[in-house]
Amino acid sequence: MNRKIKLFDIGEFGLIERIRKGTATQPDVVLGIGDDCAAVVLPATDLLLTSTDLLLESIHFRLDWTDWFMLGRKCISVNVSDIAAMGGTPRYITLGLGLTKDHPVDHIEQFFAGVGAAAKDYDVALIGGDTCRSPGPLFVAVTILGSVPPDEMISRAGAHAGERLYVTGTIGDSALALALLQRGERPPEALAQRHHNPAARTLIGRELARLHLATAMLDISDGLLGDLEHLLTASAVGCRLDGRALPLSKAFAASLSNDPELLNLALNGGEDYELLFSSPAEKAVAIEQLSATTGLPITCIGTLLADPAARQMTDHLDRAFDLPAKGYNHFCD
Ligand code: ADP
Ligand code: MG
Repeated sequence: MNRKIKLFDIGEFGLIERIRKGTATQPDVVLGIGDDCAAVVLPATDLLLTSTDLLLESIHFRLDWTDWFMLGRKCISVNVSDIAAMGGTPRYITLGLGLTKDHPVDHIEQFFAGVGAAAKDYDVALIGGDTCRSPGPLFVAVTILGSVPPDEMISRAGAHAGERLYVTGTIGDSALALALLQRGERPPEALAQRHHNPAARTLIGRELARLHLATAMLDISDGLLGDLEHLLTASAVGCRLDGRALPLSKAFAASLSNDPELLNLALNGGEDYELLFSSPAEKAVAIEQLSATTGLPITCIGTLLADPAARQMTDHLDRAFDLPAKGYNHFCD
């Protein structure tokens, strides 16, 4: 018999057993998959950080554009990114899955192979979850647990007027890859990787926290301007962005030179998973050093202003204009 094994052949508990067998154990996991709850060790004086992300088929991913392994990886990376954005250490994940009963089991095994590969990269352990039958679209809910020493945590609310605004890596790559896919074109590999396999900036996030280099921080998931808005509102400051300083990859810059409208993707695109943070001017040298040791650009893209309503940007001739605030909003677009 050559038929692919489907979920209804092995059932919920058959699937959970396969997940359990494929999951690496870790010394700080006292009880992992298989009991009513997982039990884990946390550093005694740290704060527990936790965050949940939902990924829904056709909203967050399309199975004809991604593969199961990459999807598993991405689910973990985007959650780890939230812990990085607080300056924390990611530690444990739980995973809720809604699947149709005729789903091929080998897809789910590839998905968990991707989860396992990302878990290894970020040194996090899968410790539990829940599995349900979905009547239609696939959904994945990932909860991450991490920790941070209380005096090192970086929220969105600590920025001050006069400080600099920085962003890690390059922006717009993932959104450009998605735009090309939506047009039926094949994105260049460098852009496709940024979309399907984003990397959470755990090392930089943790170092910014440990060295007290950032006053406010968040990760860019919904577009630079939209996420910047959260930082500005939480910190009650305004900003002036330097349009000439936006860090763009070679692949993005090449496309931009053919189509200047693409700048909108760098500003509003989403799914960059880069860190956006504020920092006082006297920390600039330490930030340069961090960029050099991690090999990732960390670029100053503007200044914070005392007027909380100010949203300015300067263009290539250094002329200032007002910015419209715009990001991805699930109920408004
Ligand atoms: P309960 O009925 O107590 O909720 P379940 O039968 O749903 O337990 O799950 C059994 C064990 O398998 C639990 O430890 C749970 O955390 C784990 N589990 C279930 N689904 C998943 C999943 N998708 N990923 C990881 N662990 C899972
Ligand atoms: Mg359950």
